[in-house]
Amino acid sequence: MPDTAPNSWEARAESSSFYGFTDLPSIKARGTVVLTHGEGPYVIDTEGRRYLDSNSGLWNMVAGFDHAGLAAAAKAQYDRFPGYHAFFGRMSDQTVMLSEKLIEVSPYDRGRVFYTNSGSEANDTLVKMLWFLARAEDQPQRRKILTRKNAYHGVTAVSASMTGKPYNELFGLPLPDFIHLTCPHYWREGQPGETEAQFTARMAAELEEVIAREGAETIAGFFAEPVMGAGGVIPPSAGYFQAIQPILKKHGIPLISDEVICGFGRTGAVWGCETYDFVPDAIISSKALTAGYFPMGAVILGPELADRLHAASEAVEEFPHGFTASGHPVGCAIALKAIDVILNEGLLDNVRRLTPRFEEGMTRLAENPNIGEFRGKGLMGALEAVADKPTRTPFPSNLSVSERIANTCTDHGLICRPLGQSIVLCPPFILTEPQMDEMFEKLEAALTEVF
Ligand code: PLP
Repeated sequence: MPDTAPNSWEARAESSSFYGFTDLPSIKARGTVVLTHGEGPYVIDTEGRRYLDSNSGLWNMVAGFDHAGLAAAAKAQYDRFPGYHAFFGRMSDQTVMLSEKLIEVSPYDRGRVFYTNSGSEANDTLVKMLWFLARAEDQPQRRKILTRKNAYHGVTAVSASMTGKPYNELFGLPLPDFIHLTCPHYWREGQPGETEAQFTARMAAELEEVIAREGAETIAGFFAEPVMGAGGVIPPSAGYFQAIQPILKKHGIPLISDEVICGFGRTGAVWGCETYDFVPDAIISSKALTAGYFPMGAVILGPELADRLHAASEAVEEFPHGFTASGHPVGCAIALKAIDVILNEGLLDNVRRLTPRFEEGMTRLAENPNIGEFRGKGLMGALEAVADKPTRTPFPSNLSVSERIANTCTDHGLICRPLGQSIVLCPPFILTEPQMDEMFEKLEAALTEVF
């Protein structure tokens, strides 16, 4: 039960906060967990309770919550030069170095980088770039954006329109010009008797049909997460990107890889597109880009889009878009350190080393008669709860089964995320084997309690 004394942290949080993305009945029944600090992959609340955070904050705290090197990089840059934008012919040395580093670790031999404060803003920015480009290239009708149902691309009016979640109807979204194709989730969307290869072919045929119906000349871009994250950790069906990319290329439609979650190691490679073996026209990055130590997003433009956008901007003298803190030197210094920590201090290696143990643990939990599927890639995975396993029948959504599992986990000192009917795990890359075992023991205890 929450502490309801008027000066309790729960009461103060409840009376002063407007909650986003939070199950309000749970808050009423259980109160808010108010956190004061972290240690490695653990967070600690005002009562001193420790929680193993198998959520990595929100997919982002990949180096844990008390990384001394990241804090030191932030402090050094705050001491040296605390803040500046990247406009009007000025930007910090850190910003230049980060752009060079991002291009170096990207699949491109050259390109250009634009900074935002978040992943939503990065997607929003790239849509505006594509619209700007279309007008500059005398194709003002090229405005439509293709994404997939269940995709998550953010919360601004544009990125929420790209997001394929039904809750956006509550805002009267999507805006016109945003089209959602079928989610490439073979287990849920495959038809009886359909092989995975046939399913992928059907996804590609649907794309062809949508392009033919809408007119290729009206479509500005196709955005996809390599593995859908907030949709419930959905890896693409086998061969998906190899099937759709040639179609997009044939019609001159850029393919954008939204790597906000997958980027910087989550799938076991630097980029999700590397894991799935395709080279997109541009990459959206955020989250692990700063290991969660600074709010920052980046649009990384591959050479062709970079050249065309640069030429279009020069033609009207400027690209009129940006945020006050775009290219913030402290954020850039932290990102430079985070990239170094992930790539050179063993974090990416740890993801690769831990992946088999992660898959083994998840597969074992999926033997539960009420878990229909384990799916995942690298250190991201989901367990989908079902009322009936053989028929894959979901629980009625009003039972909030995943919410109950996650709440029970919290009681056991484990933070994990309920997403639709599934429980999502995406632990920090610094996790040790014993900590991973602790994560599975706690989740197993919660599953036994709920089912
Ligand atoms: N794109 C993807 C794939 C995401 O998972 C998210 C957030 O989870 C976003 C975009 C939006 O990023 P932000 O929450 O930083 O705006």
